[in-house]
Amino acid sequence: MTTYRPMPRFETGPVEVGNNLFAYLQWNGGWGISNAGFLVSDSSLMVIDALMAPSMAHEFVRSMRDISNAPFSHLINTHSHPDHTNGNQFIEGAEIIAHENCRDEMLQAKSLKAINGRGDKPGWIQDAWWNELENVDIVLPTTTYSEKMSLMYGSTEVELLHYGPAHTLGDTLVYFPESKILFTGDLAFFYAMPLCRGNMPNWVKICEIIDDMDVDLIIPGHGPTGGKRELQDMQEFMQFMVKEVQECFKNGMSEEEADKAIDIGDWAKWPEAERKTMNISNLYSTFQSQ
Ligand SMILES: [Zn+2]
Repeated sequence: MTTYRPMPRFETGPVEVGNNLFAYLQWNGGWGISNAGFLVSDSSLMVIDALMAPSMAHEFVRSMRDISNAPFSHLINTHSHPDHTNGNQFIEGAEIIAHENCRDEMLQAKSLKAINGRGDKPGWIQDAWWNELENVDIVLPTTTYSEKMSLMYGSTEVELLHYGPAHTLGDTLVYFPESKILFTGDLAFFYAMPLCRGNMPNWVKICEIIDDMDVDLIIPGHGPTGGKRELQDMQEFMQFMVKEVQECFKNGMSEEEADKAIDIGDWAKWPEAERKTMNISNLYSTFQSQ
């Protein structure tokens, strides 16, 4: 029933995936350990996401500075979550672009710094990052879009695409049509369990949209680079969850009963498999609101 593949080993650091286009990967892609990217053009650096702990963002900036001294022009936040936006302040001088719902979610979220002040550490934050988070000032996007936005860097075109609520309410796909490369943010988790805070049925539809796109390489929000095969592995899991949870919901079962009843087979071997419970809870909210 299930397709399970163990995560292949990959290194933390920049990888040139296209002409002057880099993915910045972080092993092992677990809670708070996300990927980013950057495009080097003659006159500027365009950055995709900014990581979470200041130490991660500093390392990311250092590796970009090894490659180019050009000023930061734009920073795209693929979504609101702190492991993609906490580092915004360290991409100095960049105009920050995001979906309008991403900015709204960032405005409403309690910053990890504020939580830190109350000494109330969320379980997914590693101890080593906790003190560092005092040095984080949340910097909001200054430019937002609603459906699609197009940017040019020299002759390189970049498309920002939004297809409705999925991982969050304000996810952005960052697409390089010429090189057929797609940065998905957390619309893709590879070799690990995806986490849904938005709308899983619509997320499955977005996977179908991506499958129809002219894409050769996908850089997920967490995990190694991959392609449509890895995306389909994730989609298969989410389709299964939507169907199973919907049945439990229709039968009047509680979330706890659904959690016990649904056997995810080999997918339980995925890293962060504890997200199963959170995904069921999110699906219940989605079905309740329909
Ligand atoms: Zn996320």
